[in-house]
Amino acid sequence: MPKQHDDCLFCSIAREGAYVHKGKGFVAINDINPQAPVHVLVIPERHVDTFREVGDFDARESRRMLEFVAETAEKVGLRDYRVLVNVGPSAGQTVFHLHWHILGGGDTGAEVPSAVATAVAELEE
Ligand code: AMP
Ligand code: ZN
Repeated sequence: MPKQHDDCLFCSIAREGAYVHKGKGFVAINDINPQAPVHVLVIPERHVDTFREVGDFDARESRRMLEFVAETAEKVGLRDYRVLVNVGPSAGQTVFHLHWHILGGGDTGAEVPSAVATAVAELEE
């Protein structure tokens, strides 16, 4: 198991959670507050605070992480979907352990999730 932070919610979830998909080094869970009919989070077991530190993953892990996002979407039955990473508080990041949002399902594929809408509104102010 890669290095983890004891007080990190997503490190705990990566150790034991109700996964919708699990692979070597990565888990996927349903978002507790879904912004689309299907809203899944992909969480690497390795703790990095944000996407800014994505360089801490070696090339193989990075590739595996992207493949795992695509595999997870397929596993939960999505063909069309959005993949989103909030980077930093003003972009809507609230949990400081890198995670990928997968949003889809229903007719809402074109809808902008609220966190993004808020961040865009703030940037436009
Ligand atoms: P972000 O705002 O990009 O940091 O995303 C954090 C996401 O984690 C939000 O969409 C929350 O709804 C979700 N979340 C927070 N706590 C939990 C939890 N215990 N289980 C599942 N999702 C969670
Ligand atoms: Zn963590």
